[in-house]
Amino acid sequence: MKIRAQIAMVLNLDKCIGCHTCSVTCKNVWTNREGMEYAWFNNVETKPGIGYPKDWENQDKWKGGWKRLRSGKIQPRIGGKWRVLASIFANPNMPEIDDYYEPFTFDYEHLQKAPELEAFPTARPRSLITGERMEKIEWGPNWEEILGGEFAKRSKDANFEGIQKEMYGQFENTFMMYLPRLCEHCLNPACAAACPSGAIYKREEDGIVLIDQDKCRGWRMCVSGCPYKKIYFNWSSGKSEKCIFCYPRIEAGQPTVCSETCVGRIRYLGVVLYDADRIEAAASVPDEKELYQSQMDIFCDPNDPAVIAQARADGISDSWLEAARHSPVWKMAMEWKVAFPLHPEYRTLPMVWYVPPLSPITAAAEAGKMGIDGGMPDVRSLRIPLKYLANLLTAGDEAPVASGLERMLAMRAYMRAKTVDGVIDETIA
Ligand code: SF4
Ligand code: SF4
Repeated sequence: MKIRAQIAMVLNLDKCIGCHTCSVTCKNVWTNREGMEYAWFNNVETKPGIGYPKDWENQDKWKGGWKRLRSGKIQPRIGGKWRVLASIFANPNMPEIDDYYEPFTFDYEHLQKAPELEAFPTARPRSLITGERMEKIEWGPNWEEILGGEFAKRSKDANFEGIQKEMYGQFENTFMMYLPRLCEHCLNPACAAACPSGAIYKREEDGIVLIDQDKCRGWRMCVSGCPYKKIYFNWSSGKSEKCIFCYPRIEAGQPTVCSETCVGRIRYLGVVLYDADRIEAAASVPDEKELYQSQMDIFCDPNDPAVIAQARADGISDSWLEAARHSPVWKMAMEWKVAFPLHPEYRTLPMVWYVPPLSPITAAAEAGKMGIDGGMPDVRSLRIPLKYLANLLTAGDEAPVASGLERMLAMRAYMRAKTVDGVIDETIA
């Protein structure tokens, strides 16, 4: 056993309002310069939707993540032991600028300089690349929410697998949720495994994954290799860049910019302890549906005296152990099991966790499950299909998501009875 500490994040999707404050504040701090106009270390996607860049979840197309070989071993889909050769003979599996979006601004000057008209002048969009007017914008990262149910009917969103999506095109069944995304600072990062220059590394002390800018040679195998498409090529410097989990702030005891500025207060940061010797075994279990559970099994209880002794022997400081004991990530993801990883089937062991949404809450209330007398909650009566959330968070296994949602519903009913009705039912407590 070799215990390591990892800084991780939980996002409660029920509380995300899709305001993009996190994306904008992150951009202002980390990517507000030439070469990175299109890059969003943090972005917020509309789901159902094909995301940003377009169709990022389609690994048949991009060859991201790890594949399991017949031998039982895993290797990155792109590169593997041939990564140097692959980088020389071109890497075709990369998103292009149209897969992100064409960066644009608005013709603000026109508002001041337009001749006198009967109607107010309009600031039309103008491409930041060509400077040309953009008469028609065909697509953008949150386009689908404008199309609503029509999109759900026609959607190529891979998370509809196994769902009769036509039903969700009907007005009364339409659903929508937000999915804020950043680099997952994976325990088994495919980006690092795909890099021919050895420029990507995972920090020993806190697990943050970084790109050494002096070593990066711009092969861009990491752009393909990352299944979450969270590495961006800086066209000005010729190097790849990614979210750095605000490590200068973390080192100074401050939260990441996205967490500090989040309007919905949906983000929780914390330290978790895991057994580094079990990573490969956890990432290579044959059945994809077991990947969520195999990932859970490698985490160590920070309150267990044997774990504490081993962690100290492995060089983890007392202040980090204290942080692990009070970690909301440990509590929500590992202890209470209400937060789940995004697409564990990519086998990278991602470290950003999500509490799935119960929303809209009125649907839960109408199903009679919100009050203290509502009986046992039935998550199948919620609006967002359970299967859709399971495809997103547990490789299609509905049972853990259902049990997480049931806990959230029970907790909500209890808190509501306590704070609104002034009654506490100790059986629910
Ligand atoms: Fe690497 Fe981050 Fe992608 Fe994981 S999510 S593979 S750590 S860039
Ligand atoms: Fe969601 Fe918070 Fe980002 Fe707003 S700032 S989009 S609430 S994660």
